[in-house]
Amino acid sequence: MKELRYQLDLLKAMNQKLSTKERMYHIICDTVSGAFLYYSFDKNEATTLGKWHEFFDFEIREARDITKIFDAVEEEYVLPLREAFFPEKKSRDSAMSDCRLKDSRIWLHFSIQIIYNENGRPTDKIVSIDNITKYKAQNEELMYMAYYDGLTGLYNRNYFVRLLGEFLRRAEEEDNIVSLLIIDIDDFRKVNDGLGIVVGDELVQLFGSFLKEFSEENIIVCHMNSDVYCMAIYNPVGNRSVEHIHKKIQQRTKDAFRLSGGQELKITVSVGVAEYPEAAQNALELINCAEIVMFKGKALGKNRIQYFNTPILEDFLQSVEIETKLKEATFNKSFELNFQPQFYAGNRKLRGVEALIRWQDKPGHFISPAVFIPLAEKNGTIIPIGSWVVEESIRQYAKWREQYGVDFVISINISAMQYRKDDFVDELIKILNKYQVDPSLVELEITESILIDDFNTVSEKLRILKDYGIKISLDDFGTGFSSLSYLKKLPIDTLKIDKSFIDTVLSDSTTRIITESIINMVKSLGFESIAEGVEEEQQYRYLHAIGCDTIQGYLLGRPQSSEQIDKLLQNML
Ligand code: C2E
Ligand code: CA
Ligand code: CA
Repeated sequence: MKELRYQLDLLKAMNQKLSTKERMYHIICDTVSGAFLYYSFDKNEATTLGKWHEFFDFEIREARDITKIFDAVEEEYVLPLREAFFPEKKSRDSAMSDCRLKDSRIWLHFSIQIIYNENGRPTDKIVSIDNITKYKAQNEELMYMAYYDGLTGLYNRNYFVRLLGEFLRRAEEEDNIVSLLIIDIDDFRKVNDGLGIVVGDELVQLFGSFLKEFSEENIIVCHMNSDVYCMAIYNPVGNRSVEHIHKKIQQRTKDAFRLSGGQELKITVSVGVAEYPEAAQNALELINCAEIVMFKGKALGKNRIQYFNTPILEDFLQSVEIETKLKEATFNKSFELNFQPQFYAGNRKLRGVEALIRWQDKPGHFISPAVFIPLAEKNGTIIPIGSWVVEESIRQYAKWREQYGVDFVISINISAMQYRKDDFVDELIKILNKYQVDPSLVELEITESILIDDFNTVSEKLRILKDYGIKISLDDFGTGFSSLSYLKKLPIDTLKIDKSFIDTVLSDSTTRIITESIINMVKSLGFESIAEGVEEEQQYRYLHAIGCDTIQGYLLGRPQSSEQIDKLLQNML
């Protein structure tokens, strides 16, 4: 009896221990974030635990119920999950699989474990199931960021380069070609500066969605940066030919883009084209080549398509070399000034001299300012170079004035970028004071290009200079878009008629009519006119006859060193 009581107590104690364990076990299962499925092979019995009902609306009681899980997941994941669900079939301990549920679109991670007995027979299966939706979304976003550009939804540069590499490999294998287009919106800076970057971004987006329409198996489109897009075409024929696509782009840009704020923006684009294998052998080089020719197209007047060719590349490589040397020369100030005299047409007396920069990159070898000034404007070295020119020409001029005491004008060429500098006016005035030079004998030559970007700010600055007494001269008149109407609005004193007019003024009647009317207009506005590049006596006589005030050109004097000008001034005494 005693023995029986003892047995009973033991059983009770064991039961209590068991229910404590079971409780603990339920609590744990309820607090974990996932769900579990336990299956006993011996009993063919299954139990679901944890957050099972957050994922599934059915129970699993035995082996054959397991198919319900496969029915609940999206089609494309059924097979891999089925594979993973029965590791015991391949005598394996475990397996894993990710899949998405059909209705809730929740992502689940399944981890399946098998326990074997000592004979190698499976006894238990434990499946743990975790909700990985959040992680998958983050992952997708990362993948998106890795492949696409956030603004346009087009491929980003990195991914594009990879895909282009694949196109090139395929083209090599199949002996085919790949065309690469760089498409750049013309004057985009004006949109960004004038209308703000929000509008700029919207334009980039709109044009990007238009380009996206070209995407297909053999055409990939990407947004490189800012207003630059790239398109790679595998085997460019028929509807995929560069000509066809360019025509479509041109057709689209004939119409304006309508922005959400109601504005309508018309754009033009410059396109550079390079072809594999002709232009380059790898993706980055091909992009480079297309970019180089695109810039060439821009320099030739924008809104055009420019195909790669070797001379363009050589030109480019040469300009890169010059640019490098130019930086060095700027640092060492290894420039000189030449001065070209200008004479009054009436009495052939000296009116002034124009300072023209000279650069010898090696002894006896000159690089023309027509070549390096545009490069200096591009890479910013025009700022120190320009400051040097201003100081050096005024220093030299002050010396002449002191030595010879004659009145004449010193003309200095100023680039747009120099005007944009906030302290341009102050710096100039400081130099005039330093060398005690009368501002009314200093003339700044500007070109129309500086007016295009920001007419109001520039004309305001010109006004300050003019109020200070400095002369303003409009250079190369007739080569830009020469709007006569804004001549009236500008505080200028002098207009320089470009050499291209003078060259044909005697042979071409249209040029003659234009030149005469320019000179008449200049007179009526009270400006002075200077003809540039006068090489022949006949040109001189004609210009004098039609009332041109001043003549500059090889006929009367080439650009020359300061020592040669010394002689000229001595002769005038
Ligand atoms: P630009 O201001 O139009 O200067 C006139 C150019 O025409 C000079 O070329 C001059 O040598 C050339 N020239 C003058 N008369 C004749 C002629 O009768 N026949 C021919 N064939 N040419 C003539 P250069 O010195 O090569 O200068 C070229 C351009 O470089 C200048 O054109 C100007 O835009 C720029 N430049 C020169 N010096 C400077 C400078 O110090 N600063 C800036 N920003 N630009 C400069
Ligand atoms: Ca000039
Ligand atoms: Ca000129």
